[in-house]
Amino acid sequence: MMQTRGREFMGGVKAVRIALDKYKMATGHKIVILKNDTTHFTAKCEEDGCGWRIHFGPVNGDTSRFVLKDCNAHSCGVGLRLKSPAVTTKLVKHLIADNIQGDPSLKLRQIMSLFKKNYGSNIKYHHARRAKEAVFEEHYSDDEKSYSD
Ligand SMILES: [Zn+2]
Repeated sequence: MMQTRGREFMGGVKAVRIALDKYKMATGHKIVILKNDTTHFTAKCEEDGCGWRIHFGPVNGDTSRFVLKDCNAHSCGVGLRLKSPAVTTKLVKHLIADNIQGDPSLKLRQIMSLFKKNYGSNIKYHHARRAKEAVFEEHYSDDEKSYSD
């Protein structure tokens, strides 16, 4: 996840740049890169007045490993800019798979707020539900078979 603190990007600034491109495609955010060299990577949201800003730097001076140093949340309310429900579902699926590992006790409201935290976007209740269902189909379909007689 782009904005997960502590996640290391092997390959340094190049890896961060790729992750940011994916983040832009997935979320539709317009992002300006402010610093982009071997020791700094800083980007901000292009939206006027939005406080979203991320800063990455090397781990212990090792420029082949970058880590998130600082991150603010979006305040531009970009939920509507998500390209399509399919993209949303896919992203929520990723989020669940990465962060929560398909925790069956997870509430849809919790998924929605996690999504907001990670991507700065609001998602619809049914997107959260569909993504959760999709994850459970993938993870537990074998179990379900063995339970059914
Ligand atoms: Zn923003």
